[in-house]
Amino acid sequence: MLGPAFPIPQAVWALEPGLELTVVERLLKSKLRNGRFDGVTPKHSRRMAAIRGKRNKTTELALRMVLVRAGISGWVLDEKLPGRPDFYFPSKTLAIFVDGCFWHGCKKCGHIPNRNRPYWTTKLLRNRLRDAATNKRLRSAGVKVIRFWEHELKQHAELCLKRILLKNPI
Ligand SMILES: [Zn+2]
Repeated sequence: MLGPAFPIPQAVWALEPGLELTVVERLLKSKLRNGRFDGVTPKHSRRMAAIRGKRNKTTELALRMVLVRAGISGWVLDEKLPGRPDFYFPSKTLAIFVDGCFWHGCKKCGHIPNRNRPYWTTKLLRNRLRDAATNKRLRSAGVKVIRFWEHELKQHAELCLKRILLKNPI
């Protein structure tokens, strides 16, 4: 169960995505000693970052295989787009993200480590808010957005492909 590690005023949720994120970031920092999370060593932080990179690649690769098998090509990596989508189809203005269940706070698989729980709860909440803000920025720029959960790709690759084909007909 994801939720803020500290009370967030109800009014914050009524704000625009993006602004909402800024407010939560500010609240978060105000709750931290020296602006840092307690009990998270640089070593621990690096180790988790390494895990993150690996998981992203595995999930990305799973989608890449689905696309290749279906004969879909034409995606690029556009670093300048908000949120740096994992796949971007310029001809269809379609951005696809593959979200790791842990890092993006999947409610189905949602697991929060018991160690440093407030840290993880808050960090994962912030990631979710950031995803929502990214979606909004892309959509308001006329870009279609699809997000897949890691578990969806693992369990229902064919359904993921169907969703892509609906927005990106060959
Ligand atoms: Zn999941």
